[in-house]
Amino acid sequence: MRRRKEETVEREEKIKAVKNKEKRYDGQFFVAVKSTKIVCCPSCSSRTPLEKNMVFFDALEEALKNGYRPCKRCKLKIGGSKKWQTLLFCLK
Ligand SMILES: [Zn+2]
Repeated sequence: MRRRKEETVEREEKIKAVKNKEKRYDGQFFVAVKSTKIVCCPSCSSRTPLEKNMVFFDALEEALKNGYRPCKRCKLKIGGSKKWQTLLFCLK
């Protein structure tokens, strides 16, 4: 299978990234957990959610619109992959 551009990371690859807590995926997508209604960055230090509970969003805003709350354990970041802004409400 031909590899696509970065912004269209396949689900399997995303799951792998979450399981391995790969920092290089931070900002490329966000992982939300259906069971807890929490959204995280891939390298989050909290417990790895079950695959069936994972929902992926390309933008944090999308996750928030869908009713997910940002994780407090990881410092969720928002914005372009190069220039990130830390979400204040996530740090509190
Ligand atoms: Zn998190």
